[in-house]
Amino acid sequence: MTKGKTTYRAVQAVSKGKLELTEKPLVDPGPGYVRIHVEACGVCHSDSGTVEAVFPVQFPRVPGHEAVGRIDVLGAGVEGWKVGQRVGVGFLAGNCGYCIPCRSGDLVGCLNQAFTGIHHDGGYAEVMIAKASGLISVPDDLSSETAAPLLCAGLTTFSALRNSDAKAGDLVAIQGIGGLGHLAVQYARHMGFEVMAIGLGPDTDGLAKKLGAHHYIDSTASKPDDTLLALGGAAAVLITSSGGEMVSDVIKGLRPGGVAIVIGVSPEPVKFLGQDLLFGARKIHGTLTGNPATGDATLKFSSLSGAKAMIETMPLERAPEAYAKMMAGKARFRMVLTMQ
Ligand SMILES: [Zn+2]
Ligand SMILES: [Zn+2]
Repeated sequence: MTKGKTTYRAVQAVSKGKLELTEKPLVDPGPGYVRIHVEACGVCHSDSGTVEAVFPVQFPRVPGHEAVGRIDVLGAGVEGWKVGQRVGVGFLAGNCGYCIPCRSGDLVGCLNQAFTGIHHDGGYAEVMIAKASGLISVPDDLSSETAAPLLCAGLTTFSALRNSDAKAGDLVAIQGIGGLGHLAVQYARHMGFEVMAIGLGPDTDGLAKKLGAHHYIDSTASKPDDTLLALGGAAAVLITSSGGEMVSDVIKGLRPGGVAIVIGVSPEPVKFLGQDLLFGARKIHGTLTGNPATGDATLKFSSLSGAKAMIETMPLERAPEAYAKMMAGKARFRMVLTMQ
């Protein structure tokens, strides 16, 4: 794959807001790491954490944490993975195995875990180095372009729904029908929930229903809580985009013991009244992507159910354009870079 080559192409953030195509020297993976020949990488809103230097980033840095490719070289001590195997790399770059959360089985909560594309170079590149403990298996029948956005947007929504207390037949609402939400609606439907999509404006109704929603609420026209309560209250609501009033509104639409799960970031603070949580013992919590085994399950479930992201692909060298389109909110719904 990289035979005879000494360099590879990558698109890196060189200063705040600036992405540039570059050639980087090929290096061997260290112990516990693998080198991957990248085939596709999704463009996620969290890449702005790198490009806009929201995280403490050292430039130059290659963003990208929805990377799919084939293992090219195994570093010393890597077990369970083989050269030529197709793997995925998500936001969480691989747990340490020795901290207290790791030893308690909480791999997401690892205290020594790097973020892909932030602490080290990510997948906007033909080649990347990744920690073996963070790798995700990619089923043969998912193309690399299809699998890529499932590694962050897919894993985040799948893991949140799968680990919620909602059971088949329960009412589950998905707030925000964008990059995360359009996947969440499909997963929720295939998991057997009664699905309510909450979007902005009347135009999203048709799309939400096509993706599998049983019901649609235009939150610009009516408050979601009344509609949710009329159906018995939601067991879970996934908040994919908004802060502010929206969260307080959906909390009031939860059934007793129901949970509002925050998976999207918003500059607006989340507002709620204590009494809306106390009465009905409702909960609000946040969740960050998922562990690698749940990543495997996300891809397998997507393959079994046919749930997939709506994507637009662009070749690697057009990464600045793909990133700008995503940042402008014009991607429908996920941009994916291809390396061929
Ligand atoms: Zn750890
Ligand atoms: Zn992401």
